[in-house]
Amino acid sequence: MPENVIIIGSGPAAWTAAIYAARANLKPLVFQGNPNDRKNQENGTLPLGQLALTTEVENFPSWPAGDTRQYLKTALKEEDQPYWVTDNKEQPTHGINGPELMALMRQQAVQAGTRIESKDVTKVDLKKRPFTLTTHDGQTTEAHTLIIATGARANYLGLPSEEAYKNKGVSACAVCDGALPRFRGKTIVVVGGGDSAVEEAGYLTKFASDVQLLVRRDKLRASKVMVDRAKANSKINIRWHHEVDEVLGEDKKGVTAVRVKNNQTGEKVEVPAAGLFLAIGHTPNTAFLGSQVELHPTGYIKWTTLGRTYTSVEGVFAAGDVADDYYKQAISAAGTGCMAALDAERFLGHHGLV
Ligand code: NDP
Repeated sequence: MPENVIIIGSGPAAWTAAIYAARANLKPLVFQGNPNDRKNQENGTLPLGQLALTTEVENFPSWPAGDTRQYLKTALKEEDQPYWVTDNKEQPTHGINGPELMALMRQQAVQAGTRIESKDVTKVDLKKRPFTLTTHDGQTTEAHTLIIATGARANYLGLPSEEAYKNKGVSACAVCDGALPRFRGKTIVVVGGGDSAVEEAGYLTKFASDVQLLVRRDKLRASKVMVDRAKANSKINIRWHHEVDEVLGEDKKGVTAVRVKNNQTGEKVEVPAAGLFLAIGHTPNTAFLGSQVELHPTGYIKWTTLGRTYTSVEGVFAAGDVADDYYKQAISAAGTGCMAALDAERFLGHHGLV
């Protein structure tokens, strides 16, 4: 029997789709990815997705930063406060971090009746119905509808020297690697000008002596609040118009310096550093689709109908960052995950498949 709905992915879009599909009694099956795959480990495409690689999440509605009970106490009139807020004996709580948020979402999906397989979908056949999915171990599964919520992964510069020092000082995940002993009290170079770069630079100042932030233009793309935070941090030095020319190091020690280049003057300088962290955007995870689903030139899946999660293949829906090169937020991913599940449910009903 084909599955009603298969969801591929493991971030907020996937789990929200699963919660909605399970509550609609569709018994969804989620392929959350293979946790033991080396490429998944390198690319940050492990179960629970990109949020599992972050720290505090301060912008997911209903999860303010800090002590949640104290927050409710100040936010609500006394008569509106739930009993546990007024109970002073309770331990203070903290907001939520990325891995916790994702683990909660997954558990909520499981409790609603979602089944999970920890496998990578490597191939799909969308030309015949039901659709066929093949996982990395050769297993095939059929499904009437598909929700693609595979997200996006961090980009690298593509320099051979960068590749040579991956896991030896070069990283695209400050939260995963920043606390390693090799970076303690040393200079770290961060590349990028968006929110990720600024956030990671700030996080890395907890461990590094200083962070050299290379920005290729004379402007940061990051939001004002993040820029102000970075500028106020005396351990962050912003080098405008600078790019990486070469990563320098030794086999045993790993990264020892980064040669940086001023893209206006051409001047090159060696910055002694123990690490290079990339925060230069993301690439959507769509390779397994072959060319069976229409993509934007940027590689993101195209939603073919305004306000719907429909793709170019009827019965295949896309949610979250894999189809969103603009908002890329946990909450917007969760929102489109909900939409995709409702779209799949309506498709199944309309075609008499449930
Ligand atoms: P962005 O696409 O916003 O920024 C990428 C940055 O990398 C840009 O500044 C870009 O430069 C720079 N860049 C790209 N390629 C290169 C290169 N080859 N060499 C040097 N620099 C390069 O990605 P982010 O990951 O920062 O953010 C993605 C989304 O996630 C955004 O919507 C952001 O708001 C959100 N986000 C929100 C956070 C929060 O609210 N706490 C935290 C992190 C991310 P240029 O500007 O010149 O194009």
